[in-house]
Amino acid sequence: MAVQQDPHLSPRRIRVLRAQNLMRIEWQDDSVSELSLTWLRSNCPCASCRAVRGESGTEVDPLALSSGPMPSDRVAAVELVGGYAVRITWDDGHDTGIYAFSWLWEHRTREDGTDTD
Ligand SMILES: [Zn+2]
Repeated sequence: MAVQQDPHLSPRRIRVLRAQNLMRIEWQDDSVSELSLTWLRSNCPCASCRAVRGESGTEVDPLALSSGPMPSDRVAAVELVGGYAVRITWDDGHDTGIYAFSWLWEHRTREDGTDTD
C-alpha cells in the first residue's frame, strides 16, 4: 500500500526529560510537543495494554488485570523503530509499545489529558 509521508511525521528530535516526566518532540515544522510519560504509559498502544483498556474488542481475563505490579511510568530506554516510530522500554520491563510518529502527532496536544502534579 502507498504510504503518504507527511513531513510532520518525522520528528527532528526526540528527548525524554525524566525529571519533568515528559517526552519532548521537535517536529519538522518547528512545533514542539511535550507529552507526559505517565499519559504515554497509560495510553500504551500495544495489543495487551489496549486489551486491558477494552479497546481491542477481545475478551480480557479480569484476574489478569488485578495481578502484577503497577505499570511504571519511568522510561528505561527509547529507540527508533524503522524510521516511523519509537519504542519505549519502561522501567518495569514493558517494551511492546510502539509509538508511531503519526500517532504522537495526532496526540500532540493531549499532554494535559491526565492529572499533573
Ligand atoms: Zn503496552
